[in-house]
Amino acid sequence: MNDLANAPKPERQRKPDWIRAKAPTSEGYRETRELMRTLNLNTVCEEAACPNIGECWTKKHATVMILGDTCTRACAFCNVKTGMPRAVDQAEPEHVAEAAAKLGLEHIVITSVDRDDLPDGGAHQFVKVIEALRRTTPSTTIEILTPDFRNKARAAIESIVVAGPDVYNHNIETVPRLYPTILPGARYYASLRLLEDVKSHDPAIFTKSGVMLGLGEERLEVHQVMDDMRCADIDFLTMGQYLQPTPRHTRVIEFVTPQAFSAYGAIARAKGFLQVAASPLTRSSYHAGKDFAEMRAARAVKLAKAGAV
Ligand code: SF4
Repeated sequence: MNDLANAPKPERQRKPDWIRAKAPTSEGYRETRELMRTLNLNTVCEEAACPNIGECWTKKHATVMILGDTCTRACAFCNVKTGMPRAVDQAEPEHVAEAAAKLGLEHIVITSVDRDDLPDGGAHQFVKVIEALRRTTPSTTIEILTPDFRNKARAAIESIVVAGPDVYNHNIETVPRLYPTILPGARYYASLRLLEDVKSHDPAIFTKSGVMLGLGEERLEVHQVMDDMRCADIDFLTMGQYLQPTPRHTRVIEFVTPQAFSAYGAIARAKGFLQVAASPLTRSSYHAGKDFAEMRAARAVKLAKAGAV
């Protein structure tokens, strides 16, 4: 036997009691899974091993992951497989629209793997998905959660903005100090800039971003990220606990308590975000429809107040 065979297997980390997820056993869960298989669609819910899948799929809320199931990057936290992706599925935009119609979604979240291999990073596929949704389910509000389109022409991002999603989300993921180890292929300020650009192209689009906590970040670093996001005019902040998907992934440094999440949430609201979601099980797309409705109402109140002055 070689040394590798004798090496101790990395252990799974024990989760605290406050991280409880509903088991995926409901009829709604089975129907959602069946539909995704039939339409040949991937979901980040499954690929990222999201702990909320039982709850979300019971309500038929699935986050579709376009452009395949294989990512060109290898972030230390992410469960999506890395490699050379297959060709883009031309039927995918219509299949996404069909899924939205069959699931009866009032709000849909679309994300993708990183496609550094494509000249536009996959931007055109986002555009085609938005167009298909507008044709098929015009009343469904659309939230996109995109990669950073690093080293791609700005026209790629602009084309998505012109297609007119209701919410443009791009996750900052963690504090800048941890980027070299957690997201070696990304750049903190480039991600902030992307969201700032979206807002300056079309101020009507809501911008959204998220961070994972428990990766070794310091409290004041998180506050600084909030300030940076506000400088980029980001409307909505999500904060959730990082969970190690497999022992091969980066370890959890800290399980942040629900009370600490509440405190972060209060600080974020005081800093002026229109909407904040902060709890151990918060994910970018968790309760996204309800949060979108609240954010839209908050903007209307803010605009009304500004008009009254
Ligand atoms: S939180 Fe988002 S990724 Fe997780 S199961 Fe729900 S919809 Fe899917």
